[in-house]
Amino acid sequence: LVENNAKPIWHPMAHPAEMRAQPPRIVMKGEGVEVTDIDGKTVIDAVGGLWNVNLGYSCDPIKQAIADQLSALPYYSGFRGTSSGPSIELAYELTEWFKPEGMVRAFFTSGGSDSVETALRLARQYWKIKGQADRTKFLALKKGYHGTHFGGASVNGNANFRRNYEPMLPGVFHIPAPSTYRNPFNETDPAKLAQLCAAAMEEEIAFQGADTIAAFIMEPVLGAGGVIVPPDSFMKLAREICDRQGILMIADEVVTGFGRTGAWSGSRLWGVRPDMMTMAKAITSGYFPLGATLIGEQIAEAFEADTSTFGSIGHGYTYSGHPVGCAAGLAALAETRRLKLDENAAARGKDLARALAALKAKHLLVGDVRGKGLMAALELVADRDSKKPADKKTMAKVADSAYEAGVMLRVSGNNLILSPPLILTSADVTRIAEGIDAGLSAAG
Ligand code: PMP
Repeated sequence: LVENNAKPIWHPMAHPAEMRAQPPRIVMKGEGVEVTDIDGKTVIDAVGGLWNVNLGYSCDPIKQAIADQLSALPYYSGFRGTSSGPSIELAYELTEWFKPEGMVRAFFTSGGSDSVETALRLARQYWKIKGQADRTKFLALKKGYHGTHFGGASVNGNANFRRNYEPMLPGVFHIPAPSTYRNPFNETDPAKLAQLCAAAMEEEIAFQGADTIAAFIMEPVLGAGGVIVPPDSFMKLAREICDRQGILMIADEVVTGFGRTGAWSGSRLWGVRPDMMTMAKAITSGYFPLGATLIGEQIAEAFEADTSTFGSIGHGYTYSGHPVGCAAGLAALAETRRLKLDENAAARGKDLARALAALKAKHLLVGDVRGKGLMAALELVADRDSKKPADKKTMAKVADSAYEAGVMLRVSGNNLILSPPLILTSADVTRIAEGIDAGLSAAG
């Protein structure tokens, strides 16, 4: 395994030579909030798999639901004309759960990128149905992350994720991310920053022509871009602009869904009703690949009323409504609700924020600490005044030393990303903080 780890397997988001020079960690076992590597070393997983293992690695109800569904019916298509029990039940659960956000239908996919692609495609289709076929463009945030399919990658706000694959989807425009730490306006006051970013959005819309824009997509809290928490008012302001201009709003909740921020969705956190919500990751707590695009009433009604072929043909996946995935999803949602993981994420998030603030006070390397609930980032800098990002070597040193000290972290650019399982205890928070402390001390 060790020898082959960097050869036949082509690691996503990595250069093969880099993977040979520093082979990826091989994880063999998981229990609770911990994982054990091939050498038998056990660490606390402060990344929660990849922002998804909200229930930790020992959730028996999900394992049992998967086993039961595998023996009853391992697969049947959810394509037109057929369906299976779990997908119907899960669609019902999801639309009940996200009723406050106005969601009435669930379109099942195999993961986050599929869910984003579905939302973008349905947005275009919606406007064709409405007789406004010129509304084809998309607006998104710089630093936003929306997956790797061509549509989603096109709306990604980080040019690094686009550059190797250009030309991307035409007609995509990015506006400044509402980051109080780094923004083009040098504005640190959250309320003022929200106004400035909203004004930039209005300007871009005016420049493009509102009647050419299909949808605006944003993560309620930006994840892969470095856990950027928008000012409280931003998403609401964006919703108001979309309403005024007749533009659809897509909330990409692939990370923020199911309690991660301390609320059941990021949209609910900010008091916003989007037109569509994309879900994946924690929908099964990572136990089975599954995603869903949730659709609000206005869009659902337009498709229902449509008698042309626009409303019916052209989009779906072999694994839409996979019975095993949906059974896993049903069990994960039931456990998430039973354990009130939203409340635990909010409470443990406060513990984590306090612990990370103490690390910032202790280590000059930490330029910024931010987060919401149990998604957080430490942005490391070579110099606090210039905010020059810490280099790759420093980032690797911190992560490696933290791992030695018993904490798995994720490095994204010059950010250390934290998104631990939502079943975290206060003692786990302390362990995570101590591991990061050790990592920062080793690199500082
Ligand atoms: N949207 C967001 C907000 C994400 O964070 C991700 C994955 N990190 C995706 C979409 C894509 O999801 P997947 O990797 O499951 O395709």
